[in-house]
Amino acid sequence: IVSVSSKTYLFGRGLKGRFDTSKILEAFGGGGHSFASAVKLENVSAERLKTLLVQILKGEDPAIRVKDVMNYPPFALREDMTVEEALISLAERNFAGAPVLDQEGRLVGVVYKKVLLKVAKLFPSKQVKDFMRTQFHTLSPEDFVWDAEAILSTYGEKLIPVVEDQKLVGVITRLDLMQTLIKQTEPLKPSHRKVQLPKEVEELSRVVEKICQELGFKGYLVGGVVRDILMGRRIWDLDFVVEGDGLKVAERFAQHYGVNVHPFPEFGTAHLKVGDFKIEFATTRRETYPYPGAYPVVEPASLKEDLFRRDFTINAMAISVMEEDFGTLIDYFGGLRDLKDKLIRILHPLSFVEDPVRILRALRFAGRFDFKPSKNTEKAMLNALSMHLLKHASRGRLLKELTLAFREEKLLDILKLYRQYKVLEELIDGFQWSQDLELKLEKLKEVLSWHKIEFPDKKLEYGWLYLVILLEKVRGEEFLRDMSAPAWVRELYHTYKEQAKEVIRKLHQAKKPSEAYLTLKGFNEPFYLLLAIEESLRPKIVLHMEKLSKLKVDVSKFAGLKGKELGRAIENEKLRLMDETFTLT
Ligand code: ATP
Ligand code: MG
Repeated sequence: IVSVSSKTYLFGRGLKGRFDTSKILEAFGGGGHSFASAVKLENVSAERLKTLLVQILKGEDPAIRVKDVMNYPPFALREDMTVEEALISLAERNFAGAPVLDQEGRLVGVVYKKVLLKVAKLFPSKQVKDFMRTQFHTLSPEDFVWDAEAILSTYGEKLIPVVEDQKLVGVITRLDLMQTLIKQTEPLKPSHRKVQLPKEVEELSRVVEKICQELGFKGYLVGGVVRDILMGRRIWDLDFVVEGDGLKVAERFAQHYGVNVHPFPEFGTAHLKVGDFKIEFATTRRETYPYPGAYPVVEPASLKEDLFRRDFTINAMAISVMEEDFGTLIDYFGGLRDLKDKLIRILHPLSFVEDPVRILRALRFAGRFDFKPSKNTEKAMLNALSMHLLKHASRGRLLKELTLAFREEKLLDILKLYRQYKVLEELIDGFQWSQDLELKLEKLKEVLSWHKIEFPDKKLEYGWLYLVILLEKVRGEEFLRDMSAPAWVRELYHTYKEQAKEVIRKLHQAKKPSEAYLTLKGFNEPFYLLLAIEESLRPKIVLHMEKLSKLKVDVSKFAGLKGKELGRAIENEKLRLMDETFTLT
């Protein structure tokens, strides 16, 4: 098996008269002689092809063609049905859409419940044909399942009619393909190797080991923590999954340490804290997304399925905390290799369609670790973006993810990736990148690095300052509210948009320290930092922040004065003193 860019080649050679390779390769549409045959495939990875080939060699019959996974017989609507009738038919079967046939039984369209629901109130007795899509893809029963995946992940269709001799013979949906994908990971064997756990993590894991043993469960460290251990990073968050009952383990674990546990039974998870560690327990589960970007539907499942629902190979590894193999890395999807190669890789082609939030996550991890998306991942991401999946995903989840990105140390790198892949354009109405904007962000980074060194005790969430700049040219109030930005950020945004221009003009004109002081007085530090983006103003702003704003005068001079008068006298003395002591460069 050889893969070259997006194509995968399968070559077979057999002993003449002893082994017929062409029979085997026929399954993949190949041809040739019994002793030498070959086939060229698209949309399927070499790893997957290998798994399937091994199954075929063992005499098993894996699902390879559309006919192996399609729904048969197909359910279809008639084009002359009313919207109301169609909705009832779909609801009875709990289908999200269906192919549409004309009077002669020919396939003429595809219609979705979502569309019908929208028009049902206004036009309940109009016909299905008025609202169906007439441009759609079809498949033949002999097509490969990966071609179906490619269509679903490139064009965003949820349902593909399967057609033979111009007749509708089946229907294929995203759920069918997901189930096939999960099945096809069954024969995957994980690679195992011992991992040294950091001391404190090992201690905590040993407790989990004991509890799981008592309860007859299996426990694993999983996800980001495994990745971070392998990268030698500092660990704060520990995620355990349990084949069994994660909530029960969490309770006993909390008892052991005498801490509180916060269970979320509807998700099968529980959170607790031990020292500085934030620990989560979950039951291994499978998640399916009813529609792109929706909150997932959750059911219990095996560790492998739990890993398969995750976003990227580097986040889809586990470490056993069972007695028999404590500390063993379980890696089904080549996560360790991708860590070494610095690659962000999705686990299957439908990943971004299933959950578009992963587009943002991919770029966040790429920025944070200085990784790149793998070729196929990038392709899938560009497809998902061109379908505007970000516009349709749950806004709450997207913005939550965005908030995480704005807390990252390497935010600027992440923003550059956002620019490269044009994601903010999808999320913020009217947003546009420009050279000027990128330059401003670079300068802001300089300012903030300075601030971090000079004022290490001031805990400012710097990410918000970048956001204020990003939103400068749009109507950002609503966006900040949707992001649940704190009040100081919203005030800062307002002040920046309303007053920055004027303050900058005055500051340019200031000749004496006291003039700079009077211009800046009354504003706050985050605002100064934004002003300092303009390099020529920095000396004045720095002088103000470090010296002028802290200047103290000797009040004993003004003994007889009180109240307003005293205040004015002190202020005048300050102005005099600063002009005497400092100069503007
Ligand atoms: P971080 O260091 O930012 O916390 P993390 O990998 O721990 O990174 P979390 O958001 O804490 O990320 O999620 C924990 C794990 O849950 C991830 O490692 C991943 O396996 C899985 N996960 C999170 N979000 C998704 C998603 N949208 N789709 C699939 N899997 C996800
Ligand atoms: Mg985490």
